[in-house]
Amino acid sequence: MTFPFDAAGAAGPIPVRPHIPVRPDIPFGHRLAIALAFLGAYALLNVGWPVLPPFPGAIPPWNPRPALGLVLILLLGPGWLPLALAAPVLSMAAGIGNDGSDGWPAVVLLVEQAIYGGAALLMRGSLRIDPDLRGFEDVLRFVGISAASAAVGALSFIFLATIAGHPVDGSVDPSVAGYWLKDPPILRYWLSDMIGVSVTGPFLLVLRRIPRSGGIRKRLFRWECAVQMLAVIVCLALIFPRTVGSRFYPLFIPLVWVAARFGLPGVAPLLMALEITFLGAMGLFGLQPNQVLKLQILMVTLTSTGLLLGAVVSERERARALVIQGEARLKAIIDMAPDGMLILDAGGRIDMANQRFERLCGHPSGDLLGRTLDGLVALPSSGGSGETVVTASDGSRTPVEASAAAIDIAGRRTTIVAVRDITERKLAWSRIDRRRAEVERLSRAALTGELAAVLAHELNQPLSAVVSYIGACQRLLAASEVPPRAIEQMDKASRQAARAADVVRRLREFVCNATLETAPVVVGDLIAEVMVLLADEAERIGAAITVETAPGLVVDVDRLQIEQVLINLLRNSLGAFDGLSPEEGTRSIRVQARRDDDAWVRVTVQDSGPGFPSELSAQLFTPFLTTRPSGMGLGLSISRSIVQAHGGQLWADEDEFPRAVMHFTLRAVSPAEDQPS
Ligand code: ADP
Repeated sequence: MTFPFDAAGAAGPIPVRPHIPVRPDIPFGHRLAIALAFLGAYALLNVGWPVLPPFPGAIPPWNPRPALGLVLILLLGPGWLPLALAAPVLSMAAGIGNDGSDGWPAVVLLVEQAIYGGAALLMRGSLRIDPDLRGFEDVLRFVGISAASAAVGALSFIFLATIAGHPVDGSVDPSVAGYWLKDPPILRYWLSDMIGVSVTGPFLLVLRRIPRSGGIRKRLFRWECAVQMLAVIVCLALIFPRTVGSRFYPLFIPLVWVAARFGLPGVAPLLMALEITFLGAMGLFGLQPNQVLKLQILMVTLTSTGLLLGAVVSERERARALVIQGEARLKAIIDMAPDGMLILDAGGRIDMANQRFERLCGHPSGDLLGRTLDGLVALPSSGGSGETVVTASDGSRTPVEASAAAIDIAGRRTTIVAVRDITERKLAWSRIDRRRAEVERLSRAALTGELAAVLAHELNQPLSAVVSYIGACQRLLAASEVPPRAIEQMDKASRQAARAADVVRRLREFVCNATLETAPVVVGDLIAEVMVLLADEAERIGAAITVETAPGLVVDVDRLQIEQVLINLLRNSLGAFDGLSPEEGTRSIRVQARRDDDAWVRVTVQDSGPGFPSELSAQLFTPFLTTRPSGMGLGLSISRSIVQAHGGQLWADEDEFPRAVMHFTLRAVSPAEDQPS
């Protein structure tokens, strides 16, 4: 069902009785226009509803005049009260309506304005009635205050009329028995004001909303409206000219219909139209006072019923509109989420799925709604979050991290599922894993090379000695009587030893002459790459590594090998924190890269660990010297070999000793040379 008129009120959250703002932002020109319109309308109503009517003392069947001031102050604030009070005085001074020689009408009008002005202030103030009358509470309070104000107005009118010696109600003969009891003037006066304010007030308040509501004219000319109007006319034709109570009842049918269908914006104009019709009929058919009273009572009943029912319907529609709006907002928000999002009902069926999830699983949302997650995604069994896969409609599987949270919304168990595509992350992880494996392989190769070099160096001497000792022995034995086979064997031993020395020498040459595959490398990138590789290790140890790299540093190196050097130095620093308890100082490592001079770039690694052991002071680079249980004592010597092979130097800062501060230099690529892309 579409709801014609802006019955639900302007969009926006249901206010928790907010203060109604005073409107200081109205430009002067508009204020002037409002004031003149108010005074003009007041003067007109003053003519139509004179305090001293042509038939002296007759109480009019309804009095819409007080509603003007009430609406003005309710909408615009207490600052307009003086104008409301000035209106009767100005109107009388201009001789418009209510011309009384003794000034009594002016007093009555002034008191009336004061009462309804006060009522408006009460509505704005402690009652905080929404001027748009969007809630049932607002309408109930409005009707209640109107009834109370009309009662105060009636009492003060009777009181003022009595002390001024004016007839209270000239239309009825007070000498008739039961005058004061059956239809007392106070009741007529109350009815007159009550009807006037509760019909005109909501009408004016609702009327100002209509320009804001689009397409209203189109809706007005719907067939349903036409049938409703016809029903009203038929009911009125039933009532007039014989205004018998029992003929009133059918009028409730179209009234309830309109209220239920269109809410307050529909019922307020209908009540206004009915009241005008009643008034016209009273004049046309010359109704008797008792008939007028019956119509007044009917009108009060119709007004209260219509307004309250209309308010209930409007409020319900507003709540419905808010729910729809809330759902649309929620959908828009979850659609904007970078992750796949699902809302599941208590039975685990999909209530809402965002576009990202639709793309992930390749199903349009229409297919997803109402189905379970079976065959789509398996949620982590323990709740919380975990890795899983989303299976798309074409069978392809996307690795995701899924998290689910169950919440109770209005007593219904609802599960919210977020699904993050981790394909990229997985790729990055496997890239890092490959890199790590490469570095490890290189590290083992370097270790083997260094081991071979050291062994070659160490074995070369004894093997040469063996060869020369065998030579000496052969020469000594050649002069004596030894079996020729012994000489032969010695000869073989000498050749084997010479061969071994040759193998060792060649091995050493091979290791030392290993070729470097150099290329220009941005130092910042190289350090960043190493940081990624060591991130897990640093996190496990609880060390913070800071990097300071001067911009534009480029070196010509074998990238993998220099990464290996940096990794060795950083692993030494991380290893230095190993024996420390968590309380022993901060675990920080600083890596700096800067230009040493035009030709060299210097990289420094320092840590906040305990420093080099004093026993190693002069032997840091000696192979196989280590203080670590799992160490080989080759890391620093390998690193130095690699750096030296690049033409640079690697050393421990003696000035800082025993603090562990290591430097190494690499040849810089001058800006003129090729830069890496
Ligand atoms: P390994 O690490 O296998 O012991 P290295 O050649 O890398 O071999 O290091 C030799 C020794 O130097 C280490 O055993 C350690 O005692 C000392 N060392 C190296 N770096 C540091 C450092 N940052 N802090 C303290 N001691 C260090």
